Amino acid sequence: MKPFSYARPASREEAVRLLSPTARPKGGGYDLLDLAKNGVSTPGTMVSLAAVPEMGKAWTGDHGETYLGGRMTLADLATLPAVRAACPVVADAAAEAATPLVRATATLAGNLLQRPRCTYFRDPFFECRKRGGAACPAMEGDHAEGAILGNRLCCAVHPSNLAAALLAAGAELRILTGVDGKGEPTWRTAAVDPAFFVAPEEDPLREARIGPGELVFDAVVPPCPSSAYVEVNQKASFDWASAAAAVVLEMDGGKVARARVALGAAAPVPLLSEAAAAALAGKAPGAKAAEAAAEAAVAGATPLRDNAHRVQHLRVCVKRAVLLAAGRGR
Ligand SMILES: Cc1cc2nc3c(=O)[nH]c(=O)nc-3n(C[C@H](O)[C@H](O)[C@H](O)COP(=O)(O)OP(=O)(O)OC[C@H]3O[C@@H](n4cnc5c(N)ncnc54)[C@H](O)[C@@H]3O)c2cc1C
Repeated sequence: MKPFSYARPASREEAVRLLSPTARPKGGGYDLLDLAKNGVSTPGTMVSLAAVPEMGKAWTGDHGETYLGGRMTLADLATLPAVRAACPVVADAAAEAATPLVRATATLAGNLLQRPRCTYFRDPFFECRKRGGAACPAMEGDHAEGAILGNRLCCAVHPSNLAAALLAAGAELRILTGVDGKGEPTWRTAAVDPAFFVAPEEDPLREARIGPGELVFDAVVPPCPSSAYVEVNQKASFDWASAAAAVVLEMDGGKVARARVALGAAAPVPLLSEAAAAALAGKAPGAKAAEAAAEAAVAGATPLRDNAHRVQHLRVCVKRAVLLAAGRGR
């Protein structure tokens, strides 16, 4: 492992001033340290956020929106009653991630910005597009856990549960930007929408539009009480999703006025399925509409030699998530 230095600022301003092209924020450090141990990437400095006070909390805004601090743990997101009541999709996604030990320290922003888990990406012995190589060895190699959508250049799936949940919820990130330690940090906002994520066709080296000197301070989640996140795993614990769906419904009487259906673990970036949303609009969210949404979500799937089973997994996730979001089966 390459050496790195460690900083533990006590305020958000100090934290953002320490960030630079070679320094990275550290939440729980699960992914940052894994990548360093694997020899994939080691920042010059890890800037721990553990002592930045406001970033570990959730609070409710004047319009019912929930502010979720960027270093809130997955355990807190999964268990705080206020989060579960206002945005069950986020609580479900956090609860389904990883193991109790990981959830106790892994953070909202770190989960959202973790890199893909593809074995070839994580092993510098292999050429990999995500590390600047010219090919994706998983296409011909082991891709049983690979993407079934958007997999033309790279078949690593986006690994983050919260990415799908925040995308479905229409969350917005509040980001503090430093200019390489010079000047005062400034604020910007970024909607967690399809444009936030970067597909391999655009730039295989990153998955999200966020710069090295930027700090995700918090995520602002609109109230979405009719929402749910469902994933299918090969094992009950200690496993990334084989497929996942995050669904947010806006109801009008007994019918769906508007739906957002995000697909996780299906493509190199989380996808918002317009086709699934259209299948739900104007319908009562029962089994028939949920099945139609599930079919629409997988209609464009291009499974590889060994991962066609994930198409069915994704179907099941979408159907169950629609029914749960509609209050059936909780
Ligand atoms: C056994 C196991 C099972 C797992 N299963 C799942 C699963 O099912 N689903 C799932 O989603 N994940 C899963 N994970 C991954 C785990 O949830 C992530 O590694 C973890 O959430 C990353 O969070 P962290 O706070 O440790 O991030 P870190 O490692 O600290 O950071 C990750 C990235 O985010 C950046 N970052 C961190 N905080 C900020 C910030 N505030 N602003 C800007 N950038 C920031 C870092 O610089 C780094 O680039 C699993 C991990 C393990 C070990």
